[in-house]
Amino acid sequence: MGHGAWGMGHWLLIHLPHPFLPSARLVVWQRAFCLLTFLYHGKKAYRLIKSMLTRIKDLAVKLAPRLIEIRRHIHSHPELSGQEYQTAAFVAGVLSSSGLHVQEGVGKTGVIGELQGTSQNDRLLAIRTDMDALPIQEGTNLEYASRADGVMHACGHDVHTTVGLGTAMVLSQVAGELGGKVRFLFQPAEEIAQGASWMVKDGAMENVSAILGVHVFPSIPAGSIGVRYGALTAAADDLEILIMGESGHGARPHEAIDAIWIACQIITALQQAISRTQNALRPVVLSIGKINGGRAPNIIADKVQLLGTVRSLHPETRAHLPNWIENIVSNVCHTYGAKYQVNYRQGVPSVQNDYVLTQLLQSAAEEAWSSDRVQVLPESSLGSEDFSIYLEHVPGSMFRLGVGYKERIINHPLHHPQFEVDESAIVTGVVTMAYAAYKYCQQNF
Ligand SMILES: [Zn+2]
Ligand SMILES: [Zn+2]
Repeated sequence: MGHGAWGMGHWLLIHLPHPFLPSARLVVWQRAFCLLTFLYHGKKAYRLIKSMLTRIKDLAVKLAPRLIEIRRHIHSHPELSGQEYQTAAFVAGVLSSSGLHVQEGVGKTGVIGELQGTSQNDRLLAIRTDMDALPIQEGTNLEYASRADGVMHACGHDVHTTVGLGTAMVLSQVAGELGGKVRFLFQPAEEIAQGASWMVKDGAMENVSAILGVHVFPSIPAGSIGVRYGALTAAADDLEILIMGESGHGARPHEAIDAIWIACQIITALQQAISRTQNALRPVVLSIGKINGGRAPNIIADKVQLLGTVRSLHPETRAHLPNWIENIVSNVCHTYGAKYQVNYRQGVPSVQNDYVLTQLLQSAAEEAWSSDRVQVLPESSLGSEDFSIYLEHVPGSMFRLGVGYKERIINHPLHHPQFEVDESAIVTGVVTMAYAAYKYCQQNF
C-alpha cells in the first residue's frame, strides 16, 4: 500500500505531539501494552485469532511426517482379512497415546477409539476405516514395500487407517471444543465383506448418530476429493449354479446330457437377458468368474458348477434378481433335460450416501481447500463396500480420497500389484475428515 494523503496524516497524528491528542510516547506505551497482553494470553489469543479450520490444518501439516511414517509401517506389514493382529495392536497404541479411550478385540480384530469431547450435545459421530490387506504379491519397487510374502495393501486400507489415526490425533488436540463425541472404528476384513458385520455385532454402532468413511481413489489426483450423492457402490451378491446332466461318450452326445454345453447356454442366456429384460437405466452386472466341471476330453461332463458375482445399484432391482436368474436357468435346463440348483447369497447392500452428510463433507472440503479440488462424482461404482452395513443403522457418507500422481500418465488401479499412492493425500484426508467431524459435532452445517 502506498503513502497517500491519509497515510501521511495518520503518521503525523501518531508521531507528533498535539495539545488535544495523546503524546507520541503515550501511543507507544499503549501499543507495547497491547503487545504484552497478546503475548500474555498466548494460546488463548491464538485460539481467538485462528479459526478451527486453520488450527486443524496446522496440526495436520505438523503431523504429516509422522503420518507418512505410520502409513509406511502399516504398508510394509500387511495382514490378511481377519488376521489384523499386529495392525490392531499398533492402532490401539497410537490411539492410547493420543488420549483416546480404546477398546480392542471388537469385531474379532477390530479396534475402537473414543474421543469424549465436551458432550454439549448427544451427537456421536463414527468415523470408519478398514485395516486389512489383499492376497497379492506386491510388484512395486518401493523401499517400504510389503515384507509379507504374497500379501499387499493394494486397496489403500493402509492409507485409510493412517487417515483415521491422523484424524484422531488432530481432534484429540481440540477435544475441549468438540460439541459431541467421536468414535473411531478400525474394522477388520473389509475385503471379504465381513468386518463391518462383526463390528456391528459387537456393539460398535451403539448410540452412534451418523457415520463417515473414506476410500482412496487413484483416478482422482492427490489433493482432491470426490463426493457422491446417493449410490456410491453396488450391492454385491454371490451366485452358484449347479447343472446336473448325464455322462456319456464324447463321440455319442445324443446318448448323454452335456452339462458343459448347457452351462454355456445358461451363461449366454443370462448375459443376453440382461440387455433385453433389465431396465438399462438400472444397471445389473453379472459375471461368472469360475467354472468347474468335466473329467476328460472324451467324456461328456455330467456336472458343472458356475460361480459368479451379481452387482446392482437399486434395491428393487436387487430384490427380483434371484427369481429372474432361477427362471432362466430353469428354462434352459428344462429344454435340454438337465437338473439344476441355484444358490443365491445376498452379500453387502449398495452404499447409499445420505444427502445431508454428503453436503457436510462437500462443504468441509470446499472450505478447507477450494471448490475446484472437490469433485461431485456423476457416477457410482459397481464395486462393493461393507460400509453399507453401518448404513443399515444410521445415515452416513463415504468420500473418495484422490491418491493419483498428477505427473503420471498411468496410476495403477486398486487391487493391482503395482498400485501406489501419492502420500500427500494423507493430509488432505485428515483435514477433510477432522473438519467435517468438528462441523458435525458443532451442528454447524
Ligand atoms: Zn479392495
Ligand atoms: Zn478397499
